Amino acid sequence: MTNVERHAYDVVVVGAGGAGLRAAIEARERGMRTAVICKSLFGKAHTVMAEGGIAASMGNVNPHDNWQVHFRDTMRGGKFLNYWRMAELHAKEAPDRVWELETWGALFDRTPDGKISQRNFGGHEYPRLAHVGDRTGLELIRTLQQKVVSLQQEDFAETGDYESRLKVLQECTVTRILKSGQEVAGVFGYVRESGRLFVIDAPAVVLATGGIGKSFKVTSNSWEYTGDGHALALLAGAPLINMEFIQFHPTGMVWPPSVKGILVTESVRGDGGVLRNSDGKRFMFDYIPDVFKEKYAQTEEEADGWYTDPEHHRRPPELLPRDEVARAINSEVKAGRGTPHGGVFLDVSTRLTPEEIKRRLPSMHHQFKELADVDITAEPMEVGPTCHYMMGGVDVAPDTAEARGVPGLYAAGEVAGGMHGSNRLGGNSLSDLLVFGRRAGLSAARYAAALDPAARPVADQAEIDAAAREALRPFNGPEQAASQDTPEGAAGGAQAPAENPYTVHQELQQVMNDLVGIIRRGPEMEQALERLASLRERAGRAVVEGHRQFNPGWHLAIDLRNMLLVSECVAKAALERTESRGGHTRDDYPEMDRTWRKVGLLCTLTGPGAQAGAGAGADADSAADARVSVERRPMDPIRADLLDLFERDELLKYLTDEELG
Ligand code: FAD
Repeated sequence: MTNVERHAYDVVVVGAGGAGLRAAIEARERGMRTAVICKSLFGKAHTVMAEGGIAASMGNVNPHDNWQVHFRDTMRGGKFLNYWRMAELHAKEAPDRVWELETWGALFDRTPDGKISQRNFGGHEYPRLAHVGDRTGLELIRTLQQKVVSLQQEDFAETGDYESRLKVLQECTVTRILKSGQEVAGVFGYVRESGRLFVIDAPAVVLATGGIGKSFKVTSNSWEYTGDGHALALLAGAPLINMEFIQFHPTGMVWPPSVKGILVTESVRGDGGVLRNSDGKRFMFDYIPDVFKEKYAQTEEEADGWYTDPEHHRRPPELLPRDEVARAINSEVKAGRGTPHGGVFLDVSTRLTPEEIKRRLPSMHHQFKELADVDITAEPMEVGPTCHYMMGGVDVAPDTAEARGVPGLYAAGEVAGGMHGSNRLGGNSLSDLLVFGRRAGLSAARYAAALDPAARPVADQAEIDAAAREALRPFNGPEQAASQDTPEGAAGGAQAPAENPYTVHQELQQVMNDLVGIIRRGPEMEQALERLASLRERAGRAVVEGHRQFNPGWHLAIDLRNMLLVSECVAKAALERTESRGGHTRDDYPEMDRTWRKVGLLCTLTGPGAQAGAGAGADADSAADARVSVERRPMDPIRADLLDLFERDELLKYLTDEELG
């Protein structure tokens, strides 16, 4: 029997970014004993990096804005593949969540008449992003953490213990969701600093672990984004939806090499930045797709006029949704019209004064000065696409955030799928975190409260032992790993060599970047799947040296399981979807196909490691043998009153005649 620390809570939230903290606050406010676990330091979640703002139709800058316009923009951005009910809830509830943040102490930038200021962003018809300079995520996290502390102070006043109802466990990584039969029973993980193993018994678990960017070589994402929540859900028996849709943000830094991929916020374009190729041409006018032609300016004069008189001009094409801009930049560079370091130029210095740039875009000014020795108040930046955001994720029920098929499991934030369809609009993530973080916390609390305390699901000891063996496997030599895994290994067959987890990770990133990246082709993705199978086998032989106290090699060896599973989902779903839509572009199927709009792709685990159908989740001892399978699922028809918000001509571009009746 494995020696593990054991604690019990009503609700466990895995992840302390915007979604996790908002879920935890809600669960605690509903009276549940709640634990929040994060693998980084508390306050260091990815949300802190968010720059541009939170999208919410408060109408502070343009009174024409309202939830219906926001809903329309979100559906258009997602090319109508969004879970429409999520897009509806999101558009309706986002303003309340922003105002709520202010009551908790957030201080957004203001309009001259003292309202929360809102800025333009790609794909949003009106200025809609509430912001704090270009450091909005920092203010969001600071405010949510402050709320956590204030709740803990309330608890102290009542119980004498700050952590009696809301406990934060930082630098702890969850490696398994534990189940009893079909139901969630808790989580298993390790403490990064000490290497100690722990179990938290809880009937309700909220996944809020963020994205998957570290599977790609060029990414804006931080080290934590290894697809853990996606893999944890999959291994627990919960399907993932539409994993082929990955957002490549059009503007990442391209130089110097050490910072390649770091984000250049869309606010630069929202505040007037223009894109030019090496010939000095403002090329985005050549890339306005038919579906957006009526909404975007056709000439530079018209586009420039929009900044001062938006009522009488159409938007500049630099503010098309991200997928369109990223593909355009990719095409310009491929056509030989790129910058010296393989990007295009982004210039805001001709539109704003140096003082305005430093006030509105302080982080960008600092970032370029420090990292590339470029002064963006006087010269253009060089930028190119970078892997940024995962639209696919845990398949959740829109109203409750409950993961389908696994009672007690919930997901919110970037780890959850559906909300953004095939492409997310900038600013819609921070609002998504708050809207669905709250809903997930509420649903988890209700679920836990409704259970008979004496009959809560309890994780089986054998499952805990298997999770411990899996977590510690990288410390075994390849012989032991082989003898645990296969009878042949025990019989003393030729041993394959031990692998270095860093090498396997680098190769994985290269495969995903080169073969399942921004432009995809069938044969390349088949090749990627072969390479992934080989990498998975090698990852099973990853061995680490040293001890369990803060051992990054060990942590990576564990994360590799997640990145490989998620990458397989991405590649298989991308191969299956024979069309181009949003964040999924097929060179061999370049058109968007209306019949595909009706299809969602669900990834599940099958094979010996998955125990599919038994409902017990993947067995930790044989998880490496489990395989991803993809099946098609019809998308729910969009409710008629929501369709009425669009012109029929526009709907015809997305929906089949049959759907339109
Ligand atoms: P995160 O904030 O990433 O939190 C994930 C949490 O899960 C972390 O606490 C992590 O430690 C924890 N975790 C992960 N795995 C485990 C595990 N196995 N065990 C325990 N804990 C785990 N969106 C906008 O809407 N507006 C913007 O302006 C914007 N700007 C951005 C700028 C940058 C540079 C980037 C990279 C993204 C930006 N985004 C923006 C996107 C947005 O920031 C993210 O989508 C969002 O913050 C994700 O929040 P989350 O709560 O889902 O996850």
